[in-house]
Amino acid sequence: MSLGGYRKKRDFLKTPEPRGRTRKKENVFVVQEHSARRLHFDFRLAIEGVLKSWAVPNGIPLKVPEKRLAVETEDHPIEYAKFEGVIPKGQYGAGKVRIWDNGTYRNIRKMGMKESYENGQIEVNLKGSVLKGNFALINTKFNNNPKNWLIIKMKDDKYDFTNG
Ligand code: MN
Repeated sequence: MSLGGYRKKRDFLKTPEPRGRTRKKENVFVVQEHSARRLHFDFRLAIEGVLKSWAVPNGIPLKVPEKRLAVETEDHPIEYAKFEGVIPKGQYGAGKVRIWDNGTYRNIRKMGMKESYENGQIEVNLKGSVLKGNFALINTKFNNNPKNWLIIKMKDDKYDFTNG
């Protein structure tokens, strides 16, 4: 988990986005509406001191058992969970970013978040203003692309179905 990829894509003299640093013990999530070349939502979950990030082109699923494509993007700094603003033209991800929802999450699997991520199967209970309840992120790798995941709205009574 590192911010190398994030920093390499950006010129911090030109973009208002945070340079950031890694830190542990956060359990925040954020969904940012990003009016880039194509409008999409960025779903970010703090794991091991960074925000693991996915671009969700068609919006976050709100009803069980809806699922949407979520394409993994580079890790972002934890500070990015508070970022709203305009990334200038010519910069990576140019366009307006606004916080669509944010809050905290609870891991609902028995294994740790890092292991769940590496395992390609994350299950969390979100406590946001808009998003509430259980969600899964599954690394389907379809089209042979390891960055392809699905974000799925789960039933709230569902708890740790992989480990019984
Ligand atoms: Mn984005």
